[in-house]
Amino acid sequence: MLAFTSGYSPPQPAAPLVATNAALVQPTAPPEPPAFGPSWPPSEKDWISEITADAWLHPLDGPARRMPIRDGRVFGAERPGDRPAECRNGHCGIDIGGEVWGEPIHAAHDGIVDRVQRGPNEDHGGLYVRLAHRGGSIFTQYFHLAAIPKWVQTGAKVKMGDVIGLLGDTGVKHSTAHLHFTVSVKPAANVIEQYIDPEPLVALWPIRMPVNGASVVTTQTAPGVPLGAASNKKKSAKIAKAVAAAPVDEPTSAE
Ligand SMILES: [Zn+2]
Repeated sequence: MLAFTSGYSPPQPAAPLVATNAALVQPTAPPEPPAFGPSWPPSEKDWISEITADAWLHPLDGPARRMPIRDGRVFGAERPGDRPAECRNGHCGIDIGGEVWGEPIHAAHDGIVDRVQRGPNEDHGGLYVRLAHRGGSIFTQYFHLAAIPKWVQTGAKVKMGDVIGLLGDTGVKHSTAHLHFTVSVKPAANVIEQYIDPEPLVALWPIRMPVNGASVVTTQTAPGVPLGAASNKKKSAKIAKAVAAAPVDEPTSAE
């Protein structure tokens, strides 16, 4: 049974115009509910609930739970250029970690490698990996990588916790090394993919950490406290002027 059936009103099958063969007339049964997803139309809150309903992992090791540490690192923070509207002031993900250059980055969930960028990509986030989860209904992306293992090729299967790259600073122009992490959802083939704020998720996901010489996944780490996405303020000349006068953190970082 799916966790998310409340509020879902499945389309009713059209009645046959003429029943020519009694054996072909099926008893009226409701169509199968969708294979995944929350009630329709899903809100961001629905997606958060859906995603936390099974096993996901914080992409960075413990023991400390890495969260955005300042406003310039949250979802929706100010970034230049044309960005999807749901990214508010431009930042379509969160920036976490960076204390240790080259530390392992783990796949947040089982999935398939959807895209790998190994070449120079200085203007668009450097080296990155994009994973597809749940049949391509959810995607995670990992930017600014220092290196990507050879086995991470488009179409390769990935298990939650697999090391899919090393934290770095490729494509980072105005700040230090960090992981730019995104979560986006595409609930149906004809629906445009949308970014959501991953901060409430990384605040709760279990973390891999060393315990007694072994590396284990644990939920013992305390939940993080999200700073919260940036408000959906309008980019105005006034704001641009204020930003120019007192540059915010990573004001022109690509990712
Ligand atoms: Zn970023």
